[in-house]
Amino acid sequence: MDNLTPARRSELMRRVRSKNTKPELEVRRILSRLGIRYGLHKRGLPGTPDIVLSTRRIAIFVHGCFWHRHNKSCRLTSNPKSRSEFWREKFDRNRARDTSNQARLKRLGWRIVVVWQCQTSNQDSLERRLKKLLVD
Ligand SMILES: [Zn+2]
Repeated sequence: MDNLTPARRSELMRRVRSKNTKPELEVRRILSRLGIRYGLHKRGLPGTPDIVLSTRRIAIFVHGCFWHRHNKSCRLTSNPKSRSEFWREKFDRNRARDTSNQARLKRLGWRIVVVWQCQTSNQDSLERRLKKLLVD
């Protein structure tokens, strides 16, 4: 990834961070299966949550592990080897933005659910978790 031109990199970054990613679609599929109605990409809310359950004021973020820095034991949260300072600053900004958006949402009375990208590969356990959080 470090051999890319800046233009190509930002194009890639835009794509990686875009809406309707595969992990997001997995979560939406599970919500539908659980009979939960949801809205998408709610503008006007801090951080434009990926999925919202408006009447219950629940905001769901489906976070890419690399960009949003899932924990160190996550195999998707790798550290680029070159330009490490550039990446560290970028990751710090991403993380600070997430923290601030979530704090603002909470102040507005929203409950936050974060689903990490790597958690969407195990559909069964994700479904159990979402059911427990949102249905039971
Ligand atoms: Zn992860």
